[in-house]
Amino acid sequence: MNKKQKKMLIRILVSAALLGALNYLGNISILPQTGMLRFALYMVPYLIIGYDILKKAWKGIRNGQVFDEAFLMTVATIGAIILALYSGSGDYLEAIAVMLLYQIGELFQSYAVGKSRRNISELMDIRPDYANIERDGALEQVDPDEVEIGSIIVVQPGEKVPIDGVVVEGSSTLNTAALTGESLPCDVETGDEIISGCINESGVLKIRTTKEFGDSTVSKILDLVENASSRKSKSEDFITKFARVYTPAVVYAAIALAIIPPVASLLMGNAAAWNVWIYRALTFLVASCPCALVVSIPLSFFAGIGGASNAGVLVKGSNYLELLSKTKIVVFDKTGTLTQGVFEVSGIHHSEISDEQLVEYAALAESASSHPISKSLQKAYGKAIDRSRVSDIQEISGKGVTATVDGHSVAAGNDKLMTALGVDYVSCHFVGTIIHLAIDGKYAGHIVISDIEKPHSKEAIRKLKASGVRKTVMLTGDSAKVAEQVAASLGIDQVYAQLLPADKVAKVEELLQEKSENEMLAFVGDGINDAPVLRRADIGIAMGAMGSDAAIEAADVVLMDDDPMQIAKAIRISRKSLRIVYQNIVFSIVVKLLCLILVAVGVANMWIAVFADVGVMILAVLNAIRALFVKKL
Ligand code: ADP
Ligand code: MG
Repeated sequence: MNKKQKKMLIRILVSAALLGALNYLGNISILPQTGMLRFALYMVPYLIIGYDILKKAWKGIRNGQVFDEAFLMTVATIGAIILALYSGSGDYLEAIAVMLLYQIGELFQSYAVGKSRRNISELMDIRPDYANIERDGALEQVDPDEVEIGSIIVVQPGEKVPIDGVVVEGSSTLNTAALTGESLPCDVETGDEIISGCINESGVLKIRTTKEFGDSTVSKILDLVENASSRKSKSEDFITKFARVYTPAVVYAAIALAIIPPVASLLMGNAAAWNVWIYRALTFLVASCPCALVVSIPLSFFAGIGGASNAGVLVKGSNYLELLSKTKIVVFDKTGTLTQGVFEVSGIHHSEISDEQLVEYAALAESASSHPISKSLQKAYGKAIDRSRVSDIQEISGKGVTATVDGHSVAAGNDKLMTALGVDYVSCHFVGTIIHLAIDGKYAGHIVISDIEKPHSKEAIRKLKASGVRKTVMLTGDSAKVAEQVAASLGIDQVYAQLLPADKVAKVEELLQEKSENEMLAFVGDGINDAPVLRRADIGIAMGAMGSDAAIEAADVVLMDDDPMQIAKAIRISRKSLRIVYQNIVFSIVVKLLCLILVAVGVANMWIAVFADVGVMILAVLNAIRALFVKKL
């Protein structure tokens, strides 16, 4: 509990004790049942417990924002007190108890909300407090914000990596659990890139930072999670709009309840019974508080987003959580998404030069690309790349690269690239990704490389289908042969091959046209040359996004892990949160309506009304907090 909450608790206890004492004195006839002394004494606990609500209502009235909860509580309780004074019953207990219960509910709510917020930041315990810098042989702890790009920082075993960088000395095992939700240890050694937020488990690492703290992975993730609740979902919008109409409506209904029946009774020649109907109208106001809805809906989304981020699924806003829950079509990129993107050379054909030389040219020409193909060719080459031998590197998205290597112009890429350059190429009848090479405009042979499926891809597709996804589609720039083979082996419904990045956007637009309006289409990519598609889809999901800025920026949902099973998990989490949201909406509205009807016909009194209200709110908040907990797969 924080200070404010403690103060509230004291106010509740003091006011309850005073109320109990006054009631007791009344029962043993020491305090008279009527009169100004009784009124004055009862006002003490009332003001202790309710002064802030009265103040808030007054402020609201002065600012023209009349219809809020504070206003409802104020009118209802003051009305009830005036009624007791006027009728001479001296029964102030009820009005004060109503205020007391309302405040207990508010206290509980602020405690629960604060607690779940703290829970989320505790779960996302990735913010580093310091970075170590070595000065004159001693380690000095500095604020990560002050570390400049290119500085050398030291991360000791057990410490968090504070800033993204490259290992320059040492080797170790990293634990990525806080980022991905899975504790997969990952080995790093000199030369490896390393992202902030991981925990260093074994060795001492010296890291040259490649980013400022503010641009590092941890900062990005924290920003994303902290800002997620500012994007409102449709359900939240609904609640805001609902409250705007609802509150004035109940106030007018209450006024009608206070006036129409007595007047009607007078007209029919009977007694008016003003007291009865004004009391009912006031009770009606108490009963109408929409707090359960107003509090629990945003909290459910917040908890859902928190639970998801703890499982390694970052959702950028409540609206995306809502869209995600309606996903019926999932479109995949192939390389790096369903397959590992780690190609092995499986053949070299028609080479005009030696095989080693062909791979060497390919690797040199590819030296600046971040495409999985390029990484794999560099690995196949196996030697350190002398960048000074390469110049004029051009990457042509979806086709390949061109460069000047040792003074020769080299092109490495697919059929499309060769056609574009006007080079006659030899088609390959092997299943695999074919990298043709042209040197000085002459065909020099091709390298066949093949990728393997990710171990969970097949299972992931099955899980998606089981969870109600209607159609799975794969889009790829790779050859039709490879694409069809992968699609068949994974059980993907539709496959489109040999697409340029722009064709992928067009295909997604086609698929968007075909589906019905309340079905959502998600595109899952690895963020390498598919940012436009990520943006175009109803929901863009970037996977394995640790470290890829483009993907984190373009996507709506970011999977920290590159395991395709996370997609089904993300959908499941979103469905659970939305289920909770709907449960809360229906539950609170039904109880509320029931309560209002009972009050209007005179069955329920103010006590019951406020109990129902606080009770529903507590249940709704507890239900909302369930969204925070995500079952492991
Ligand atoms: P995917 O849709 O499978 O992710 P891309 O759109 O990234 O594939 O690339 C499509 C095709 O373009 C690749 O299969 C490859 O033939 C060619 N290509 C793209 N980038 C490169 C590169 N850097 N080097 C060689 N070929 C490339
Ligand atoms: Mg790709």
